[in-house]
Amino acid sequence: MTSPEAKRMWRRAIKEHFNCQCVYCGETYELHELTLDHVRPKCLGGEDLTSNLVPSCRKCNQDKGSNNWLQWMRETFGHTTRENLILSHIN
Ligand SMILES: [Zn+2]
Repeated sequence: MTSPEAKRMWRRAIKEHFNCQCVYCGETYELHELTLDHVRPKCLGGEDLTSNLVPSCRKCNQDKGSNNWLQWMRETFGHTTRENLILSHIN
């Protein structure tokens, strides 16, 4: 994973794996509109691995910040089936 092109393809594959949806709010976006969110924040030791990265719109990414994702998600959206999508991705 050294060339910028390889990195770009990798990031794209993660977004496409989730059908270009923000995993938090469930909205569909264009590839370029989605960011990749660290499920476990970098500041808490989260790594740059596929299993720690999910597509997120800018708003959710910003709102979530370094909060615990599950807690934040439930407070913001209530219980949703998207929790399971994330859980199966990170485990
Ligand atoms: Zn979102």
